[in-house]
Amino acid sequence: MSLRLGFDLDGVLADLDRALVREAIRLFPGLEIKAGADQAVAPAAIEPDAPEGGDPAETSPTSLTLSRRQERQLWDAVKRIDNFWETLDETEPGIIRRLADTARTRRWEVMFLTSRPRTTGDVVQVQSQRWLRAHGFEYPALFVVSTSRGKIASGLELDVVVDDRPENCLDIAIDSKARAILIWRGDQNAVPASARRLGIGGVNSVGACLDLLITADNPDAGQTSLVDRLKGLLGLKRPSSDAAKARI
Ligand SMILES: [Mg+2]
Repeated sequence: MSLRLGFDLDGVLADLDRALVREAIRLFPGLEIKAGADQAVAPAAIEPDAPEGGDPAETSPTSLTLSRRQERQLWDAVKRIDNFWETLDETEPGIIRRLADTARTRRWEVMFLTSRPRTTGDVVQVQSQRWLRAHGFEYPALFVVSTSRGKIASGLELDVVVDDRPENCLDIAIDSKARAILIWRGDQNAVPASARRLGIGGVNSVGACLDLLITADNPDAGQTSLVDRLKGLLGLKRPSSDAAKARI
């Protein structure tokens, strides 16, 4: 069976934070930028997680201090940018081509998930698909979704979902059989304890996540299930084997 993977876009593959900083600087000259603003997105960075067309106003770049009013103005401006979702950079240069190549070689099925709000230009799905294709993923299956990521993961029968929001990973752990991998670019010790308790492991880049998936997907890896191998690789406890050891 092919491994079925779900990938979130913003904060995982697409650098929304940087694009918002660019636009904010243009709108509000003289804005103070916190240290590290020119680096890849910070953990649990801005996320337009409102449903399509919803109000994403509670999302703003982590590297900027914006008032609620400025956040609203920023998003009003962003939504007026023609095909804004195609203007983003990758979080890690070349990561989408690497994902595409790895998926082809290893016969993985990849599905992209996003809750981006709409902007001027084509619908979010088409903008996002064109963006993925431009970066090397030829036929992206992409779903613009607004319900729980767990329900989506369950409905799409995904084995693994990669997301940068602990809340989404918790949803996935609770509502589906999929294993959630949290992309956490900051201090690994700051991964929420609730995530670890639910068996959600964090990795600090998509590159590291792909390395881990390749290792877990190795058919020579023994008799353990892929899920058990992933847990081991993510440094999470394996309750069944621990319990077995405890009985000995
Ligand atoms: Mg995200």
